[in-house]
Amino acid sequence: MSLSISIVGGGYVGLVTGACFTHLGNNVTIIEVDEKKIDSINKGVPPIFEEGLEEILLKYSGTRLFATNSYASVAECDVSIICVGTPPNPDGSSNLEYIRSAAISIGKALKDKNRYHVVTVKSTVPPGTTEKVVIPEVLKNSERKSDNIGFCMNPEFLREGRAIEDFLHPDRIVIGSSDERAEGILKDLYSPLQAPVIITSLTAAEMIKYTSNSFLATKISFSNEIGNICKKLGIDVYDVMKGAGLDHRIGPHFLNAGAGFGGSCFPKDVSALISLAESVGEKPKLLHAVIEVNEIQPLKMLELVHSRIGDLKSKRIAVLGLAFKDNTDDIRDSRSIPVIKGLIKEGVDVIAYDPMAMSHMQKLFPAISYADSIETALNNADACLIMTEWPLFSQLDEEFSLMKQPPVILEGRRMIKRPDVEGICW
Ligand code: NAD
Repeated sequence: MSLSISIVGGGYVGLVTGACFTHLGNNVTIIEVDEKKIDSINKGVPPIFEEGLEEILLKYSGTRLFATNSYASVAECDVSIICVGTPPNPDGSSNLEYIRSAAISIGKALKDKNRYHVVTVKSTVPPGTTEKVVIPEVLKNSERKSDNIGFCMNPEFLREGRAIEDFLHPDRIVIGSSDERAEGILKDLYSPLQAPVIITSLTAAEMIKYTSNSFLATKISFSNEIGNICKKLGIDVYDVMKGAGLDHRIGPHFLNAGAGFGGSCFPKDVSALISLAESVGEKPKLLHAVIEVNEIQPLKMLELVHSRIGDLKSKRIAVLGLAFKDNTDDIRDSRSIPVIKGLIKEGVDVIAYDPMAMSHMQKLFPAISYADSIETALNNADACLIMTEWPLFSQLDEEFSLMKQPPVILEGRRMIKRPDVEGICW
């Protein structure tokens, strides 16, 4: 069955969702407020880097995939999917301004439509948002009754850098719904993926997303804490986690100790869950500790560099890796940000390199140097800090002979197999 879909928000999630639903045979209109993104999508040029995205855009942009700033397509389509951002407020709670604005615009666009329509929330939102914000705004602004508009909450679990692959091969699809008809339409939409489908309430669907991200973040902070203890005891934490992770009750994933987690989701979602818990009188001690460990972890890279080369003033230090993870140009909450801040504070001459994320970091730190190659970054460096797990860094060896000798190579990720490399917690 082919459906006509409007996606509100053409960022990482919206664009990937739109591209993948087009790839699965549907007609998609992406509604965006950013003219540059609209232009880029319509030209078949992805405004973000994701493997496989360009091929899909080139194939379907202008035929079955369009981007626009108009909500007119909403009245013509079967399903609207909200994929706008939910950034953190200063107190850590979730800012729902974009969600509300998208719901109002969808409502207004549905005013003259008589046919059944499904409105789905895919953005990560605190439990209760679909019921308390989206449904009332859509119904009020469309002046329609809930009997011919269905509502779903369908959280997204894709990982940036592997987003297309993750979208097309999910572990599970979660659908929270207000009525069986809406639920059936979403189930049909996802049926080509042949993944297990969990049908639940709107609020449970919202909570599943926060629970998943908070649990994964907890695994990382836990691994880092074990790693910090292992470092002091002279034990290799990677051997320890391999042994622990083979227990099926624990599992081998997300046990990599290192410089901590970043990105647009884990820090924001754990903070939002903390804020939500506190708003209902709960004290989430464990979640606070997850954030605390994650804030301290990158600073351990600075301690390590101090312990190896002493005073950092006027030292030349190469930072390899700026993106929050490999295979993406996204630097949001990247762990290299607090490290670079700390180095600048100590008067270091920072020279940074990343295969994709340098232009974004340049906006944040215009005064540091950016190298056009790994060799240029390493040339004559007093130390090198590896902050992102880009596969190409694992090939490095001879390049370190360009540094002052013997080279001081410090890793926030476990990439390089050389006896003279020291890890943050191994
Ligand atoms: P993003 O900032 O990359 O994209 C959001 C887009 O929405 C932007 O392009 C913005 O211009 C657009 N927008 C804002 N208001 C709009 C409006 N009223 N009408 C039309 N467009 C509007 O954000 P993202 O990373 O795609 O995340 C979107 C949501 O999905 C968030 O809630 C996030 O937590 C969640 N999520 C993100 C990921 C991820 O890896 N990035 C994974 C799963 C879930």
